[in-house]
Amino acid sequence: MTAVELIEKKRHGLGLTSNEIRWLISAYTDGTVTDYQMAAMLMAIFIHGLNHEELAVWTDAMLHSGEVLDFSDVDAPVLDKHSTGGVGDKVSIPLAPMVAACGVAIPMMSGRGLGHTGGTLDKLESIPGFTTALDPERFNQILRSTGLVLAGQSETLVPADRKLYALRDSTGTVPSIPLISSSIMSKKLAEDLDGLVLDVKVGKGAFMRDLDSARQLAETMVGIGAAHDTKVAALLTAMDQPLGDEVGNASEIRESIDVLRGEGPADVTEITMALGVEMLLLGGITGDEQSARNLLAKTVETGSALALFERVIVEQGGNPEVLTNPALLPIAPLRFEVKARQAGIVSECDALSIGVAAMRLGAGRERKEDTIDPGVGITVHAKIGDRVEVDQPLATLAYATEDRLQSALPLLDAAWIIGEAGAPGPLIIDRIGP
Ligand code: URA
Repeated sequence: MTAVELIEKKRHGLGLTSNEIRWLISAYTDGTVTDYQMAAMLMAIFIHGLNHEELAVWTDAMLHSGEVLDFSDVDAPVLDKHSTGGVGDKVSIPLAPMVAACGVAIPMMSGRGLGHTGGTLDKLESIPGFTTALDPERFNQILRSTGLVLAGQSETLVPADRKLYALRDSTGTVPSIPLISSSIMSKKLAEDLDGLVLDVKVGKGAFMRDLDSARQLAETMVGIGAAHDTKVAALLTAMDQPLGDEVGNASEIRESIDVLRGEGPADVTEITMALGVEMLLLGGITGDEQSARNLLAKTVETGSALALFERVIVEQGGNPEVLTNPALLPIAPLRFEVKARQAGIVSECDALSIGVAAMRLGAGRERKEDTIDPGVGITVHAKIGDRVEVDQPLATLAYATEDRLQSALPLLDAAWIIGEAGAPGPLIIDRIGP
């Protein structure tokens, strides 16, 4: 078998056999197939796609390119959640302790923020002392003692994706549904999960701008799960405006703590509850939606979710006092208010512009190697449907340097559209899954 033969086959739109795909992924991971050959293959896949069988094998070959975790000895359903990424999307942080407090084991492996979208790891690391870099032994210990661990992806899991993603990034082949779905699902399936809940974001601030592509991505990932005997449910949720009021890192931890106290913004709470219900149903903790809701609500009322989060913070080296004294979280020294130039109803509050502005303040990374400032961010005061008066603050920026502020401000000029009318659409647009 040669890489050239396979590239030519795919270039003609023909299907690759299981053996061909397994050979290709393995030979690419060990360096026998070169980056330039794989780049050509990726472009051929970008154009012609992968059929159902090819995609199942491609994902399986990726997930077996490295270590596969084994949680068979864990005496609880093992579940995880993945979001395709958005602005102000801190849902994993309150969700994981709430669901774990109901008896689900969650070996949560999250990512870092890139571009306008934030990352759970960066948010967690704004808790003084908290580490997300855990060796496998420590990762397993924490999961088994608390039922929850919040860490970064281990280096040994799915090495094929590390190479493929970097190559896709530099060859214009990222936005391909088979390539995105195999990349996400190979990493999740390597976690040996009993079930996975996906939050597929749709809208201006999301990877998938339109509903049709978001639905196609969700259906593809649910299909990969089914081919792998893993239960996967996906919610399609709106990402036209930021989720919650805070866009940043430490500020999103503060807002997550509010959710765990039952005092969080309605939209973050609604998505957290909806995904939590899916996780409890997938894990077989309960058989109906209402009792799942009741169980989750109880973890907030009794403080059991907050107590679990506190244990995880301690286990991962963080200062648990942030839970009672959020002033211990970093915060930038300077403030700037963006004000309404006219009175009316907010009809748009553009998640993309606000996300990019937050990144320019230093809350995110333009390039992978950039460092972030955990204390900067944007507090959004006016969302779609709100009435505002002239000079009313639309947002407050917490910033550290004047040049960062000046690079962020132009993005916020047109982020809010104020007119005669405006109303937010539904937050949870659709559900795909068993
Ligand atoms: N996230 C991933 O992990 N992979 C992709 O291809 C896109 C988003």
